Amino acid sequence: MLREHNVVIKDPRRVDLRFASCYPNLYRSAMSSLGFHIIYDFLNSREDVYCERAVYPYFRTLESSSPLKDFDIVGFSLQYEQDYFHVLEMLQEGGVPIRKSERTSEDPLVIAGGPCASSNPSPMTDFIDIFLVGEAEVMLDQFLDTYLQLDNPREELDAFLDIKGVYVPDNPVEMVIVENMRDAWHPIKQVIPETDDKDFIPAFGRAFLLEVSRGCTRGCRFCMAGCMYRPRREAPLKDLLEIAEKCRQATGLDRVALIGAAVSDYSKIEELCLELYERDFQITTPSLRIESISDELLTTLKESGLKTITIAPESTCRIRKVANKPITNDDIITIMNKAFNYDLNVKLYFMLGLPTETSEDLDNLLKLIKNLEEIPERRSALRISINPFIPKPHTPFQWVDFDFKEMKKDVKFLKSELKRSNLKIDSPRMALIQYVLSMGTADLGSTILKSLKSKVPIREWEKLAPKWDMDDELPWDNIHVGVRKDYLKEEYLKALNGVLTPWCEIFGCYDCGACDKSTKSY
Ligand code: SF4
Ligand code: SF4
Repeated sequence: MLREHNVVIKDPRRVDLRFASCYPNLYRSAMSSLGFHIIYDFLNSREDVYCERAVYPYFRTLESSSPLKDFDIVGFSLQYEQDYFHVLEMLQEGGVPIRKSERTSEDPLVIAGGPCASSNPSPMTDFIDIFLVGEAEVMLDQFLDTYLQLDNPREELDAFLDIKGVYVPDNPVEMVIVENMRDAWHPIKQVIPETDDKDFIPAFGRAFLLEVSRGCTRGCRFCMAGCMYRPRREAPLKDLLEIAEKCRQATGLDRVALIGAAVSDYSKIEELCLELYERDFQITTPSLRIESISDELLTTLKESGLKTITIAPESTCRIRKVANKPITNDDIITIMNKAFNYDLNVKLYFMLGLPTETSEDLDNLLKLIKNLEEIPERRSALRISINPFIPKPHTPFQWVDFDFKEMKKDVKFLKSELKRSNLKIDSPRMALIQYVLSMGTADLGSTILKSLKSKVPIREWEKLAPKWDMDDELPWDNIHVGVRKDYLKEEYLKALNGVLTPWCEIFGCYDCGACDKSTKSY
């Protein structure tokens, strides 16, 4: 039996609404997700609601061991497309009819949020009653209040359409985000597992999560988060320090994981890390942006206990221009040398198959990786991960196809050339399935359902892979995330010509559409 600190216990009979917050992946991933903590803390702050958690592959809630069918609302956090299969399994094993068309007024309302639900929910429309598009804390209160006012919410879905951010398939929706990070929900009493079993320890170890910023405007053309969650919003430094102290008190932990799409772009990152260090916090953080790693920051991070930094060079210099990530090989080598001087480990992330990549680029990528491998004195100090590039909705690369055969060939080539133990290359098969699920239409429902009973052959997935042209109407066109489609087209054409778009926060606004005049802050 897993022991946890800060679990919320309420009497289900004394609340008006029972909410099952479901994470269709493993416990350690769920507990590494700030969004999952936010939902739990936010909902349980309401006296009339009891939110419990369910994580795959368990089909009962962690709090009261109740099946999902016992809840009024079952909400899924859709972070990765591959988790769609687990959603169906959790519904089935939890006693909830999988297809929404088979549910009655006795069954829970099934909702979903998270990046996949916000970008292209179409493939899951057979199974989810309502999607929440954007940042949940903006709409959840109104959503629950509306639910509580209705006699039969399933029959009255139109009543939810007045809530900004709610998507009932086929009705256009506008994504919602918090305009000011002071309005963002910062969970204080975060649930912490009390275990030494590494299968249950979250990605950042025994640490609480501190959200320094949301969104990123650097403009990498492959990055869905960087396109959808604009503009970048920062929490005030003073607030962060207060929140960190409160979290320490509530969790008993000194270790803090700084969370944000681009943590090192936080305008006061050095001050923040220094203050945290001086208050005896240990700091950890995911991916750092190379341009914003200074000596001071590295020194503070090292002294406060950071062991590994993660850098994403993505590809060769030429392809980086296509992707609008204008860092040089020298930048990468300099920062790696610095990190190794500080005795930090380095994780490098690359992508394979970005648009316009040729066999010459692949040879150059191989040379670059081999050169970088030579830098550390200890081989174990460097880990390299290579992922197939998967085009995503709402990005300038949404019109790029996924070439499965080419990808298999390239992965085979790299594997044969890079035979080192701390290199990880993701499977092209999984990448193809992810591509189909992220870029596909509602027709995919039957294939997702079929996969519950038997493995769908890869040839079938290959046949389902969409090819979108620039003039096509896209399945996610009625989901308005902020950036203009014309802007994405312009960016795609610039990418094909290797033309960069400078960072709007330094070089000025180019009117991507994400900020209206009242929120633009640069
Ligand atoms: S810097 Fe990172 S988060 Fe920002 S757009 Fe690029 S890949 Fe996305
Ligand atoms: S509208 Fe302008 S300032 Fe806002 S994210 Fe887009 S380019 Fe940047």
